[in-house]
Amino acid sequence: MKPRALRRGSHEERPVAARILDGRAMADRWRAWVKAQVAAFRDRTGRVPGLATILIGDHPASQSYVRAKQRACAEVGIRTLHHHLPGEADRRTVLGLLGRLADDPEVHGILVQLPLPPHLDEEEILGAIPLEKDVDGFHPWNIGRLGLKGRDPYFVPCTPLGILTMLQEAQIPIAGRRAVVLGRSRIVGLPMALLLLRLDATVTVCHSRTPHLAEVTRQADLLIVAAGRPGLVRGEMVRPGAAVIDVGIHRVPDPQAPGGYRLVGDVVFEEVIQVAGALTPVPGGVGPMTVAMLLVNTLKAAQRQVEGSASPWPEPPPATAPL
Ligand code: NAD
Repeated sequence: MKPRALRRGSHEERPVAARILDGRAMADRWRAWVKAQVAAFRDRTGRVPGLATILIGDHPASQSYVRAKQRACAEVGIRTLHHHLPGEADRRTVLGLLGRLADDPEVHGILVQLPLPPHLDEEEILGAIPLEKDVDGFHPWNIGRLGLKGRDPYFVPCTPLGILTMLQEAQIPIAGRRAVVLGRSRIVGLPMALLLLRLDATVTVCHSRTPHLAEVTRQADLLIVAAGRPGLVRGEMVRPGAAVIDVGIHRVPDPQAPGGYRLVGDVVFEEVIQVAGALTPVPGGVGPMTVAMLLVNTLKAAQRQVEGSASPWPEPPPATAPL
């Protein structure tokens, strides 16, 4: 890691500005790697990795996430099949579709876009995805295995896996470090905490009922922020030199911006950049890595189903220059 400039003369020396972790550049390298792997898989097996996406309802953000995932798949040669069900689709319809996709040998991965309409039971729907096709890694078995040291899940959820990959590529140490995770959702916070625990960090998980948040966050060498609250983390909540990963994504109205809005995270970027040692931007940080890891997971799903084995960890890393 490059040494950072220090502001001298004050009572406390502190970094002038954090290193920005460029998620777009890292994701580009991973996409190129997956593309080459998909081509090699096709040459070896005559098969093409296939991802089925299911969107229930017309949530605009969900529609754009699914479109982005489909586009990314197409770019690397992964075939996608999209199923758009009406928001009032009942459980039998959804479970019937999942059953057909489970039996389809051309479908190696199944992704149900969250959130589901409130009348559907998330546990039941996600639990109906076969383990070996659970490319989002949200099945209780996959989450459970993530928490067991010495046992591997089939898949690690894409956002925590993307964050881990960013930390590793940026050579930010994890073992023995104090990690604080804001958020305990199934998608980000909980699997992130389990992953960091596996990698020997000392982990604290905070949530909406955690009092005196700043006292906890200031102890973090690694601060993962996935609370879904714009502007939650201010500069004074961050330990000087800490690595801060901003997972939040929010549209805030901005008449100057194209489309009338801009994207911000859970972290007050201009403040935290003055204190942290490393920081992910929004946009262009965790988001692109999440999509890249979905491609990695879908490739691995196809390899496991067609060729019999695949590790859940995205190794070997892209053979391009490190940061
Ligand atoms: P969620 O609403 O399911 O969970 C939020 C979590 O944060 C909850 O566990 C809650 O207890 C906790 N929380 C709420 N307020 C808090 C506070 N004041 N202090 C500490 N903890 C608090 O959200 P999620 O699905 O985990 O997503 C979190 C954010 O990350 C959202 O902004 C979402 O859009 C974004 N996200 C980004 C990506 C990506 O690829 N960049 C992927 C998934 C989610």
